[in-house]
Amino acid sequence: MSYPELRLRKGTERSLLNGHPWVYSGAVDQPPADAAPGCLVDVVDHRGRFIGRGHYNARSPIRVRILTRDRETDIDSAFFRARIGRALRLRLDSDLTGQTDAFRVVHGESDGLPGLVVDRYGDHAVVQFHTAGIDGAREDILDAIDATLTPTGLYERSDVGTRRAEGLPDRPAGPVRGTPPPDFITISEGGAPLVVDVYRGQKTGFFLDQRDNRLLLRRLCQGRELLNAFSYTSGFSLQARRGGAKQTLDVDVARSVLPAARQNLQLNASADGRSDLVIADAFAFVDDLGRRGPRFDAVVLDPPALLRKRADYKKAMGVYIKLNRNALRLLRDDGLLVTASCSSRITPEDFFAIVQRAAASEKVGLRIVAYNLHPPDHPVNPAFPEGRYLKCVFARVIR
Ligand code: SAH
Repeated sequence: MSYPELRLRKGTERSLLNGHPWVYSGAVDQPPADAAPGCLVDVVDHRGRFIGRGHYNARSPIRVRILTRDRETDIDSAFFRARIGRALRLRLDSDLTGQTDAFRVVHGESDGLPGLVVDRYGDHAVVQFHTAGIDGAREDILDAIDATLTPTGLYERSDVGTRRAEGLPDRPAGPVRGTPPPDFITISEGGAPLVVDVYRGQKTGFFLDQRDNRLLLRRLCQGRELLNAFSYTSGFSLQARRGGAKQTLDVDVARSVLPAARQNLQLNASADGRSDLVIADAFAFVDDLGRRGPRFDAVVLDPPALLRKRADYKKAMGVYIKLNRNALRLLRDDGLLVTASCSSRITPEDFFAIVQRAAASEKVGLRIVAYNLHPPDHPVNPAFPEGRYLKCVFARVIR
């Protein structure tokens, strides 16, 4: 097959040659002629030398997302089958399957499949098409998922905001292959049963990336009183209950989390534990409660990404610091702060600074006892720093 060519401006090829998968608009010298959004192009340097082949979209500031650097590789059904097969092997070769039957199978750029997300929940799978290019290959991709994962049913949740920047319509969600999933899919996380609502849940239904942190909290919770802020479907609290927590209090702003959260707390109830769930703005809630002094042995902070645009960096740092300081006010001596950030623009160093400044302003000491980054089903390509987003610190408070 031959593909239209996109020529780069002289001197812009460095990061691509180092493995980065994106060509920004500013690097383009000559765009391909008559290229529809999502079509395949060959990216060449200013002298016409082949660099890679990928999906093109003139409507996105990311003009090309590279799929292969091998000129002989066609982007066809065999290609998607091989890529998805490799992604699945990477998960099966980790220690994930001993822990859970739910994991991310394809994590976009990090698996060499820009714009594609596939999550597995038990026997079912959920797919998201984020870009015009990947959306154009949907039939090949659905076939490839079917062949590699053999799920009972495959459900699509492409109702993501990122599609708008690609000029794509917000595709309504729906079943695309096999049997539609039940209202709630029950999965297991470290032996704890929990339900996932792939129809109405956020993202594809569950935040699989926090699994290791939930399981670590479980081992540190015996007899403790926990505040779980930004609790979604009570993932941290259900593990805390498994770990013998005396009390858990969940706070989330979205009323839609209630049905799954209630089931999850019930499924993991213990005889002497107690659990409550409040629908409220967690920033204000933690602030208000903090004014009344320490009252918890553990606080989890797992907010959504608070920094999206570079211009908001300072403001977002301030919001993170204040949130963490308010959480520290709630913690007793020896209490455990579990704090996370999923903004890729907040670097690990930024995050340490946030935690340090929160402690300094609250005048407490902290000892970081765990510092976790990505689990194996959200792998990181070192050539793609934008794909590094998750940071989670476990720290003990010294009053
Ligand atoms: N810790 C969860 C995932 C949290 S995702 C787990 O382990 O599954 C972030 C959550 O923050 C979402 O459920 C979202 O509804 C909630 N959220 C967003 N803004 C909020 C706010 N201002 N106050 C409370 N919750 C908020």
